[in-house]
Amino acid sequence: MIDDDSYDPLAGAGLDTLAIRAGHVRTAEGEHSEPLFLTSSYVFSDAAEAAARFSGEQPGNVYSRYTNPTVRVFEERIAALEGAEQAVATSSGMAAILSTCLALLQAGDHVVCSRDVFGTTTVLLDKYLQRFGVETTFVPLTEMDQWQQAIRPETKLMFLETPSNPLCEVADISALAELAHSKNVLLVVDNCLCTPALQKPLELGADLVVHSATKYLDGQGRCMGGVVAGRSELVNEVLAFIRSAGPTMSPFNAWVFLKGLETLRLRMEAHSANALELALWLQQQPQVENVFYTGLTDHPGHEIASHQQRAFGGVLSFRVKGGREQAWQVIDGTQILSLTANLGDAKTTIVHPATTTHGRLTDEQKAETGITENLIRIAVGLEDIVDIKADLARGLSAI
Ligand SMILES: *Cc1c(COP(=O)(O)O)cnc(C)c1O
Repeated sequence: MIDDDSYDPLAGAGLDTLAIRAGHVRTAEGEHSEPLFLTSSYVFSDAAEAAARFSGEQPGNVYSRYTNPTVRVFEERIAALEGAEQAVATSSGMAAILSTCLALLQAGDHVVCSRDVFGTTTVLLDKYLQRFGVETTFVPLTEMDQWQQAIRPETKLMFLETPSNPLCEVADISALAELAHSKNVLLVVDNCLCTPALQKPLELGADLVVHSATKYLDGQGRCMGGVVAGRSELVNEVLAFIRSAGPTMSPFNAWVFLKGLETLRLRMEAHSANALELALWLQQQPQVENVFYTGLTDHPGHEIASHQQRAFGGVLSFRVKGGREQAWQVIDGTQILSLTANLGDAKTTIVHPATTTHGRLTDEQKAETGITENLIRIAVGLEDIVDIKADLARGLSAI
């Protein structure tokens, strides 16, 4: 044993080791698996200790809206995986995005956001933050000139998600980080689709990473959660907001996510391998017009994704020949795939973006962003790829 409190045996450890072990300090019970602390509050040994804990003079737990040991393990593990100084967990992915915005912005500030982010993120910025005097300009994810032109003196934050969902467009995170920093703007990246197993935005210059843990971090579609990771100076601002506003992660959910994280890299590689095989197969089907997947060499985002990501992820989309009717026939013709908008699950999911996830867009917005009536999105799961193909073949033969 090395008798030095500052010695960290996991310093420099690989991604899998961190995903399995980071953050857990065994209690006196000697448990092997991370313990679940289902407690809302904590008791103090005497009044002086209570006073010291409340004033912050003595570190330790006070109340689970502030800290919970199981949630802390999850936060430390995500920080280790993302290469962040610190992370803070939230009740959902949207809570992570909202808390980041409310902690770092004030009335009069301006945000530049990719047009191709998760739909609810657009609503949050465009409808709700707008009411509080924060204006947002939406720009196409891959158009560097438009990002640059949209920045104003009052711009505080740039927000993006890469690859985009469902068309898999890819942003150059390093180039956008450089642009942001040259204008004194923070770059926030939603890393939900890649997870730190495939992409590390902080290493590429982003200031903060946000996640919906609901997706691949869980990996089996069980729990809602989110997380914000980055430099302590920024994460502490978000943490202070969360403690006051209350969108904390449930310890039970944190415990489920910890179990999910143990297989993160294996799962992400398996999702990516299945997705690539499916994309190549779809390209050869006579009923398919075109396929959008960053792993395909003719995809416009392929080159950046090849050096920015370790693999291409599990989400792809394709256009069938025809319109809404044909797309719906394909979806309704499948019998194994789950018809649901969720993604990041071991179970493959299929959805018609134009009438579900992107249904609120106007026809003009749909045309601009490529959400056509014949587009189908698949979040490729971990079933045997032959069975996924066979089910889609059933769907395609229904046209
Ligand atoms: C699902 C999702 C969110 C929102 O997360 P919730 O956990 O559903 O609140 C944010 N960003 C992306 C990319 C998502 O896929």
